[in-house]
Amino acid sequence: MTDCVFCRIVARESPADIEYEDDAVVAFRDIYPKAPVHVLIVPKRHIASLAELAAGDAELMGRCLLAARAIGEAKGLAERGYRVTVNTGPEGGQVVYHVHFHFTAGRRAGSPR
Ligand code: 5GP
Ligand code: ZN
Repeated sequence: MTDCVFCRIVARESPADIEYEDDAVVAFRDIYPKAPVHVLIVPKRHIASLAELAAGDAELMGRCLLAARAIGEAKGLAERGYRVTVNTGPEGGQVVYHVHFHFTAGRRAGSPR
């Protein structure tokens, strides 16, 4: 069994509230939500962080953003808006080293901190 918590969710070896799935991407509710809507969008293929992306990962990252758009539309948030962020490395606040996009919404976001 992998020791990556998000790979285990992708493989359905750990439970999660799945909000979206396609052939390349899974999105599920953050276990400790920091906003009224807080979904994590992850590529099914393990990539540790944005700092380790290769040129060949460009389409997969685009697929994650298209998943964000789909989630925004499904939740009726396209007009009100939402924020998509990627924490990278220790000073970027990254804790889980499987690249993921935080989709947050439901209150007005301030400037990025
Ligand atoms: P990071 O700080 O790495 O950008 O964000 C990791 C996020 O993953 C955090 O917001 C944290 O609450 C969430 N998280 C960590 N472990 C789990 C888990 O097992 N299940 C779910 N659904 N979220 C998790
Ligand atoms: Zn992983």
